[in-house]
Amino acid sequence: MRQSAMLIPTLRDVPAEAEIVSHKLMLRAGMIRQVARGIYDFLPLGVRVLRKVERIIREEMDRAGAQEVLLPAVCPAELWQESGRWEKYGKELLRIKDRNDRDFCFGPTHEEVITDLVRRDVRSYRELPMNLYQIQTKFRDEVRPRFGLMRGREFIMKDAYSFHVDRADCDREYDEMFRTYRRIFDRCGLAYRPVEADTGAIGGSRSHEFQVLAESGEDAIVSCEKCEYAANVEKAGIGAGDPVAAVEPTPLVEVATPGQRTIEEVSAFMKMKPHRFVKTLLYVAGDGVVMVLVRGDHVLSEAKLKDALGTPAVELASESTVEAVTGAPVGFAGPIGVKGEVRLLADHALAGITAAVSGANKADTHFKGVSAARDFPHVEYADLRAAGAGDRCPRCDGRFTLQRGIEVGQVFYLGTKYSEALRATVLDAEGRERVLEMGCYGIGVTRTIAAAIEQNHDDAGIVWPMPLAPFHVVIVPVNLADERLRTTAERLHDELTARGVEVLLDDRDERPGVKFKDADLIGCPLRITVGPRALERGAVELKRRREKESTEVAAAEVVERVAAMVAADLAAGVRSRDLDVR
Ligand code: ATP
Ligand code: MG
Repeated sequence: MRQSAMLIPTLRDVPAEAEIVSHKLMLRAGMIRQVARGIYDFLPLGVRVLRKVERIIREEMDRAGAQEVLLPAVCPAELWQESGRWEKYGKELLRIKDRNDRDFCFGPTHEEVITDLVRRDVRSYRELPMNLYQIQTKFRDEVRPRFGLMRGREFIMKDAYSFHVDRADCDREYDEMFRTYRRIFDRCGLAYRPVEADTGAIGGSRSHEFQVLAESGEDAIVSCEKCEYAANVEKAGIGAGDPVAAVEPTPLVEVATPGQRTIEEVSAFMKMKPHRFVKTLLYVAGDGVVMVLVRGDHVLSEAKLKDALGTPAVELASESTVEAVTGAPVGFAGPIGVKGEVRLLADHALAGITAAVSGANKADTHFKGVSAARDFPHVEYADLRAAGAGDRCPRCDGRFTLQRGIEVGQVFYLGTKYSEALRATVLDAEGRERVLEMGCYGIGVTRTIAAAIEQNHDDAGIVWPMPLAPFHVVIVPVNLADERLRTTAERLHDELTARGVEVLLDDRDERPGVKFKDADLIGCPLRITVGPRALERGAVELKRRREKESTEVAAAEVVERVAAMVAADLAAGVRSRDLDVR
């Protein structure tokens, strides 16, 4: 492909709207452009990468026996009303009306639509199991679309849904999809981890996320240093141990803490470590208010709170609710003496805490000398806190290390949540009606591209892993006016292309410096430079984007060499390990 004939509007300057590397580099490399908040154009280079990810996904899904379908992006409200999600999904669901005033939504996920298809067209257990997938544009009206493709409003997802007569078969497919996802992300050439995950708004009871490891990731994940256990911090089980060193109980005393509200403020003010604090948060769940307690140095996991309460949604209480419930302004809530109708839930780490500090439900006042057993005995204990570095593994005596990740995929066991609501059933071998068991499996196709860049870049630009690169190699003739350079570059382009190598030929009439800068920015894994001095010796320069130094290769041999390097790199991505499913 000739660069002069392509729309690749590279930018020298870093666009102000972009905060993270992948967003900046995709804009600068001319891969995408923003049209509205969280909504993007894909330019030719962006599309090439997109097609690569899609192709890997298709090949592996097909290999696993899944069938491709294409469902509508605009879905009728009736189906969402049947599942109950028309009310529950909230503002992320983009609701639209047609000319007849009928309600529709732009699909953020497709459990309802696919379950409707299957209930109408699948009758017998003999047609099962069945796994249907699609690669399609989704819309979620995210509160904070940001980071470019990482959290867009319109984005491309691969979503798959499987249907089974019983749980055992659904579990088998879940494991198959888990292995398929490993193959997909291996083939993309990414460093990632599958971790145990919360099931969130989609519902269900067994789930793993696939997290691409990157400092900029929005998710925090813990992995055991000794065993295979890894989980999202909001879900991770925490082993027993490490109680705060026991301290002799002390009497309960009121302390004036004027204007000191946060744990940091009060801790500094009272010169006491945060781990001796009872952090109090008020949540609204359903019709009631719950007072939630975690240790001052710990972080509440809302996912665990929802699990503990058995509710799909919780929301931090408003200032006025806090005042009504505690009789004090925000910042001074605590468990002691709170009204009877408020449910008290505390994290396990608070059991047995003594000589601690909590709010006193009175303006500008805290208690010190708080003993959990003595002062708030009626609390229910549960696992509520997010896991952190150094916490104990729930499976062995190892400890957790903390990493950041980007969730590129998630697999769920859904059970009968949607099949029950939409009455999707088949007749089994005995002629009895069976409600279908379901699994669902998503991959953020566009997010995977952003994640690949977060993981593979340097100061000069993107450093594509070979399987996702828009082109495998870029050829840079340093001076187009020089006939010999131009014809050599063109010949290499043609010969490599004939060998199945994807080549970008920088045939623009630009200075070499400009071409090299753009080549680094766009990030093709290999670069061939055709310059006058080397060519005198019958050679060209070959350089890996990842490395600093180039090597001189005989022009007659470079095609063979490059074709072999590309093939080796693509094969390295296909590690296809059949790893055990956790
Ligand atoms: P998140 O927790 O990041 O909001 P999610 O868990 O709600 O994502 P799923 O419903 O599991 O997302 O969707 C499947 C996949 O789609 C995710 O693993 C992610 O890769 C991708 N995805 C979800 N939301 C977005 C978004 N706003 N922009 C880009 N990709 C997204
Ligand atoms: Mg998810």
